[in-house]
Amino acid sequence: MEYVQEPARRVPVYGEYDVAVLGGGPAGILAAATAARQGARVLLIERYGFLGGMGSAAGVSNFCGLHANVHGEIRQVVHGTTDELLDRMRRLDGLNDPHLIFGKIHAQAYDIAAFKCAADELVRDSGAHVLFHALAAGAAMDGQGAVQALFLETKSGRVAVRASRYIDCSGDADLANWAGIPYEKGTGHGQMLYPTLMFKVGNVDAERAGEAWKRIPELMDAAEAAGEFHFPRRGAIVRPQKHAYEWRVNVTQLTQADGSAADGTDAGSLAAAELEGRKQVVDYLRFLRAKVPGFENAYVLDIAPQLGIRETRRIRGEYCLTKDDVLNCADFDDSIGVNGWPLELHVAGDVHWMWPPIPESRGYNQLPLRMIVPCRESGVDNVLVAGRCASMSHEGQSAARVSGSCFVMGEAAGVLAAMSVERGAGMRSIPAAELQAVLRGNGVFLGQDPAAAGGRTD
Ligand SMILES: Cc1cc2nc3c(=O)[nH]c(=O)nc-3n(C[C@H](O)[C@H](O)[C@H](O)COP(=O)(O)OP(=O)(O)OC[C@H]3O[C@@H](n4cnc5c(N)ncnc54)[C@H](O)[C@@H]3O)c2cc1C
Repeated sequence: MEYVQEPARRVPVYGEYDVAVLGGGPAGILAAATAARQGARVLLIERYGFLGGMGSAAGVSNFCGLHANVHGEIRQVVHGTTDELLDRMRRLDGLNDPHLIFGKIHAQAYDIAAFKCAADELVRDSGAHVLFHALAAGAAMDGQGAVQALFLETKSGRVAVRASRYIDCSGDADLANWAGIPYEKGTGHGQMLYPTLMFKVGNVDAERAGEAWKRIPELMDAAEAAGEFHFPRRGAIVRPQKHAYEWRVNVTQLTQADGSAADGTDAGSLAAAELEGRKQVVDYLRFLRAKVPGFENAYVLDIAPQLGIRETRRIRGEYCLTKDDVLNCADFDDSIGVNGWPLELHVAGDVHWMWPPIPESRGYNQLPLRMIVPCRESGVDNVLVAGRCASMSHEGQSAARVSGSCFVMGEAAGVLAAMSVERGAGMRSIPAAELQAVLRGNGVFLGQDPAAAGGRTD
């Protein structure tokens, strides 16, 4: 590797805040809004011109993890400030009723524009400031385990943001990485969950298509067996959106030359995967038009602005959420909310699902506060890490990376950061019980009272 020496330069300070939140995905939206409501002066930093993270930029358009299968009955288990976001989306007529998946659990499709606008409203009304079009590119440390400033590349040039607390909701643990917080990627043998370039098709004849999502996997198998098409993965998820002439397609799979998952923290890998992803989109449209009734005149309505990244860095925190925690519906004294989504492992060429026992189990695990707190050995004490890059094993993350859990982690991180500012105390010194009291007041279901899950169904 050759290097060029960059001349030292003075960087103007854009602003000073109590809490700086990096990344405006599900975790960052909730972190910024709840920290501001708790009285902190907050800046939410986002590289794009809109919020939503993978939920908008990667075209996901479907909330998972809001519900759990509680002893055979499907209930909404993520509440708190998330309810308000959902209500705002409903008022924009942009949220579907929940739909059943595998006969076991609910997910909820939405219009991406409604998600963006509702998230804007929630964050703006909370009093948090937002800086769009700002790519964080590095951090300065104070030499004593604290992040001192975050450097952002903007159209006005490079600027610095100072804050007393930082919440890394970048999905890729960018800030945590610059701060020297240890992390893992993938299985430990390099295999991360595979990314997908999402797209939507329009002009579907809804009546003829009917419940085509049930038959599409068989039609794909038949087309592949006949040698007519080759698909990068099985386990296609092709479903109608709010307006049934519009369907989302989750079917591409992006690899590197050696067959491993494309790497969302490697610029070259990302570039190659975007090109290959669009090629797979074009191929899959040919299949839909040729083989699936109702799709004869479908066209590509939209390709997501960026590749959908499921997993990159996961920090090492004070606790690592595992596969067993999810499958055994674990309890934690320091619960900040719950996850009801099963393991969803996007492996080479396929998707593997693993569920807590239905109907024997209550179907959700608690999420511990310690999974958003960096490990003590990192020596970093003014950073929390929420969302898909929080402290989870590869398998644990395949479940708790979905939107529902990211909302939960974001809300807890926002409230905790603001409480620590208000008290002038370190984030580790706030007793979990006091955080939980505020979260309960916000309407969060902590999973500590099983009867309460039945009190709020959808
Ligand atoms: C293809 C695909 C399909 C999925 N399907 C579903 C589904 O159906 N339902 C579901 O609930 N979940 C689904 N998920 C998972 C879910 O969307 C994500 O795990 C979730 O959005 C993670 O939220 P987050 O806030 O942790 O991070 P992200 O959503 O990744 O948000 C991170 C944000 O940080 C910003 N950012 C990152 N780095 C920087 C930087 N350096 N500077 C400035 N900004 C930065 C990004 O632009 C982004 O807005 C899917 C994911 C993928 C990839």
